[in-house]
Amino acid sequence: MLEAAGGFKGECKKMISGGPMMGFAMFDLDVPATKTSSSLLCFTEDEVAAYEPTACINCGRCVEACPELLVPSRLADYGERGQSGVFEKWHGLECVECGSCSYVCPAKRPLAQSVKTMKKQVLAAKRKK
Ligand code: SF4
Ligand code: SF4
Repeated sequence: MLEAAGGFKGECKKMISGGPMMGFAMFDLDVPATKTSSSLLCFTEDEVAAYEPTACINCGRCVEACPELLVPSRLADYGERGQSGVFEKWHGLECVECGSCSYVCPAKRPLAQSVKTMKKQVLAAKRKK
C-alpha cells in the first residue's frame, strides 16, 4: 500500500493504522491490510511522543471533552490500578474510545488507552462468567 501511495517522503518516526484519534500505532510494517483498515498515517516526527506523561493537574479538560460525560482521569486511574469494580461503577464501559480525552490532556496522559484496556478486561471477564 505504501509503495502504491508513493512511499515515505521522509524518515518515518511513527505509523498509525486508522484515524489520528482512534487509530493505533503500528509496531512495524509487516502486517496485512484488512477490511477494517481505513488509512495509514505516517509521521516524520510525533510531538506528542516527544513528551513523557506527567501527573494529572486536575484541569478538567478531559471531562469537558468526553462525549459520554465520563470522568476519564478517574477511569484511567482505575484502569491503571486494575480496579474493575469501581471502573464499572463510574460507567467505564460507556466509553466509545473516541480518544478526545487523550487529545486534550495537557499532561499527555494516555487516558483513552488506559480506559480502553480496562474496558476490554472487564468485558472479557464478563464473557467468561
Ligand atoms: S475515549 Fe472514552 S473516556 Fe475518553 S473522551 Fe472518548 S468516550 Fe470519553
Ligand atoms: S485533562 Fe489530563 S491533566 Fe487535565 S484533569 Fe484530565 S487527566 Fe488530569
